[in-house]
Order: sequence, then C-alpha cells, then structure tokens
Amino acid sequence: MSCGNLLKRLRSGAMLDKSEWAAFIDCDDEGFDEELFSAAAEIRDRVYGRKVFARGLVEFTSFCRNDCFYCGLRRSNKNAERYRLSENEIVETCRNGYETGFRTFVLQGGEDLHFTDDRMVSIIRAIKKNCPEAAVTISIGERSAESYRLMKEAGADRYLLRHETADHDHYSILHPSSMSLDKRISCLRTLKALGYQTGAGMMTGSPGSSALTLAEDMVFLQDLRPEMVGIGPFIPHHDTPFREMKRGSVALTLRMLALVRIALPRVLLPATTALGTAEEGGEIKGFNAGANVVMPNLTPVSVRKKYLLYDNKKITGAEAAENIDLIREKFRAAGYELSLSRGDAL
Ligand code: SAH
Ligand code: SF4
Repeated sequence: MSCGNLLKRLRSGAMLDKSEWAAFIDCDDEGFDEELFSAAAEIRDRVYGRKVFARGLVEFTSFCRNDCFYCGLRRSNKNAERYRLSENEIVETCRNGYETGFRTFVLQGGEDLHFTDDRMVSIIRAIKKNCPEAAVTISIGERSAESYRLMKEAGADRYLLRHETADHDHYSILHPSSMSLDKRISCLRTLKALGYQTGAGMMTGSPGSSALTLAEDMVFLQDLRPEMVGIGPFIPHHDTPFREMKRGSVALTLRMLALVRIALPRVLLPATTALGTAEEGGEIKGFNAGANVVMPNLTPVSVRKKYLLYDNKKITGAEAAENIDLIREKFRAAGYELSLSRGDAL
C-alpha cells in the first residue's frame, strides 16, 4: 500500500499492523514529510489550537541505581557528578516557578533510593500546598505499585516513564539483563490503572533501533493509548558504552512525532530538549510536526550541568525557565502561543 493510502487509513482511526507502520516510517515518497507534518499539525490545531504548554522541569537527583547503557547518569559512570536537592530546595524551586506562572512541575531524577515513599509523599504534599493550582508530574523510573499509589494519593497527577523500546531484543541491547521490558510495561499499565495521566515514549536512532523496532513502538502506543508520549533523538554520552554511536536524526524524530500525533490526536507531545540539542530550532520543527509541549528547565543553575543524560545538553539557553520571555517570543514568531496553564490532556 502506498504511504498516502496508509496516511488516509491512519487518519480515519485505523489500527495499523507492524509491517504497515514500518512502511510508513521508511517511506521515501517525495513530499511525504510535508504531507505528514501538515496532517499532524492540523490535528493538533483542531484539538489544542496553537497553544504550546510549558512544564517546569526540576531535575532533583542525579543518583541512579540503574545502568541503562545510553545514559550519562548510569551508576557505572564514575565520572558523573552526583547531587540531590533537599525537600526544601525542591519545594522552593517549584514555588519560584509558580511565581513566574508555571502551573505544571515535572520532578525528574534517576532511580535514587534516598527518595523513599515517605519522602516523595511529603514533597508532593508540600508542592500541592504551596502551589495549589499546579499539576505535579513525577518521572523517577520504576517503583512498586504501592509506591505509585501512595504518590497518587499525595496528589501527583501525571507520571512519565518512557518504555524506551517495545521490541524485546532491542530492549536488551539498551539495558543490562537486570532490567526488562515486561517490567517496564507492567509499571506503565499500573500507572494508568491508578488514574495517572501517563507518559510513555522512546528515543529515535538509539543503537539497535530500526524501522521495525519503531513500528513495534507504534503498535504498542496504539494499544496503550498514553496521555503523553516523549520522543527525542538518542544522543551519545562520552562516559557510556555507547560513546562512539551515532546520534538519532532530527528528520526521523519529526516523522515519529507526526505519526504519534495522528495516531493519538489528543496526546500531549513534547518537543524535547534532546530535539533542541540535536538541532538549533529543533523545538519549532517539532511543533510544525504536531508537538505541543515544552519543558523549560527550572533546576537551580548551580547543579544543572551535573544532570547530564547525554553530551552537549543545553543548560542556560532558550530552554531555561529563567528565559521564559525569550522562549515566548521565539514561539510567537513561529505562530505558537506559550501557555503556562496546567494543560491537562483533553
Ligand atoms: N530515570 C528516569 C527519568 C530520567 S531519564 C527514567 O529513566 O525513566 C529520562 C529519559 O532520558 C529516559 O527515559 C531516556 O529516554 C532519556 N535519555 C537518557 N539518556 C539519553 C541519551 N543518551 N540520549 C537521549 N535521551 C536519553
Ligand atoms: Fe537511570 Fe533513567 Fe538514566 Fe536509566 S535512563 S540510567 S533509569 S536516569
């Protein structure tokens, strides 16, 4: 089937199978990306308008017990500088963001056992008390169902846990044998069942990925129907086993963003920092392909450079929350309106 016909079927709400997705992802018809991006942007406009929702990102710990091969925070990276913010610092950081106008905070970190359930519950409650209208998103990896439940009860609204890849063999290229795709997926299903607005997602161009693994991701996403999907290019980090690998392409990332927008019209879809790192102006290209979320960095500048998932991660440029006016202007010039509202999934 031609790519144009596949696009028609997808737009009419069809579930595609793996080989159809792979044909889509590999399509080299001339002008196909333009057609795809404009279909995706039109759907985003219909559901959410030209608003781009900002989330204040708080990277609160760089300690991690995991050893994902792609990530600069992996525990085997002895050169990584580790830090953790205190409960007070985390709440203060959110309060500052709240004063700027942010109404969503994303608390992200490595899997750091210091942050027990009691500590997380206390932090979430304090943010909810100090920033009463704000949504709280947690992104701290795999935890027990009980832990997810306690955080939800404390007031957490959303949870980001990328599945990374839905292909078992590919998962084991990216992770040590102590981690499993089944466990990851079971965490995602638990989060959904608990009522979190749940985010899955994957990198593009990570070692071992192909049109077939990305097709598997699309089949999985169409089945899970997450409220959010995080997609960014893999970018190598110099102190990981993948240091010599090629980074993922911007073009493929944009294509995946557009496919996700069309498959899941209501999805909240960030133009990720990795996309902005891979190419200047990458975020705007992301919006033009259907994305509608950005995550400006609220992390205190003193520790920001220590949260290095990959090389050349931007620190104090146009992705930094203190430059919010700059960000707003940049987006306005491209025809998008920055919104600091909660921006819940519709
Ligand atoms: N520890 C948590 C959250 C922090 S990592 C977790 O793993 O879920 C957040 C995301 O950063 C990961 O899901 C991964 O997809 C992305 N990431 C890590 N290393 C990366 C790299 N080298 N290039 C691009 N993205 C990366
Ligand atoms: Fe830890 Fe997340 Fe990095 Fe894996 S991706 S090593 S879980 S911070």
